[in-house]
Amino acid sequence: MRTLKVAVPVKGRLRDPSFRLLEDAGLGPEQPGDRALAFPCRNAPVEVLLVRAADVPEYVQDGVVDCGITGVDLVRERGAKVLELLELGFGSCRLEAAVPDAMEATTFADLAGTRIATVYPRLARELLPVDVSLVDVTGSVEIAPRLGLADAIVDLVSSGNTLRTNGLRSIGVLLESQAVLIARDGEVAAPFAAMLRSVVEGRRHRYVMLNAPEPSLELISALLSPRVPSVLPLAAPGMVAVHALVPSADVWRLLPELEAAGASSILIVPVERMAA
Ligand code: AMP
Repeated sequence: MRTLKVAVPVKGRLRDPSFRLLEDAGLGPEQPGDRALAFPCRNAPVEVLLVRAADVPEYVQDGVVDCGITGVDLVRERGAKVLELLELGFGSCRLEAAVPDAMEATTFADLAGTRIATVYPRLARELLPVDVSLVDVTGSVEIAPRLGLADAIVDLVSSGNTLRTNGLRSIGVLLESQAVLIARDGEVAAPFAAMLRSVVEGRRHRYVMLNAPEPSLELISALLSPRVPSVLPLAAPGMVAVHALVPSADVWRLLPELEAAGASSILIVPVERMAA
């Protein structure tokens, strides 16, 4: 089997979660030394190349590597001709337009004719519904209005804290982004994508185990729907064990509801992998 070359961000906020994903997928990536730019994996014919997140789309498009991990924002900004195979569930952020608090604008239309600072000129041009003049900057976009370089900005936002600290207010989301697995040839990358998918899907779920009196079963099953739970008899008469997968994001809501429905000995455990 030929070695699959995978580009992974060498630094920045996508680096550590990308490594963790390779680790959790069981690939056994070797710990790269500080200066290493490529390293093998112990358990699979995969070679990891460390490159800047912004360069990953081109490396994949040009066939220097078979696939890569980077942000959706960077793929779209580069206009790279690659396949977005799998959203990876980390690096979530939004490309937003924001204005100084004192400015009256509240919609994208209000930005017509203004000067907009951004490191995303292609996406700003493509996604803003009005004509603006773009001011290309290479970083610290948030201070451009205060410096008088621009009237507004288009930039990535996750919590919104940086905007607030700089006296800016969002007026809308242009693009939702997160880390993504990209490839040029979907077939070549398919086995690797399947490995990562099983981990990503596993992380999105929890396995719930609980005990319940039989009369509660109908209500508990309704709460767990649309998943059909496994129901096992318990040694105690009239009692059953109920097992089901649930979305991780639903656990906080489900837990008190299950308790109220009569569930006891509720266990919620992580799921390592989830395949078809
Ligand atoms: P970095 O290498 O740290 O500059 O991060 C690059 C990528 O991280 C961006 O292109 C996004 O895909 C992702 N990201 C997630 N949240 C944020 C954020 N709040 N600001 C900038 N980048 C973010």
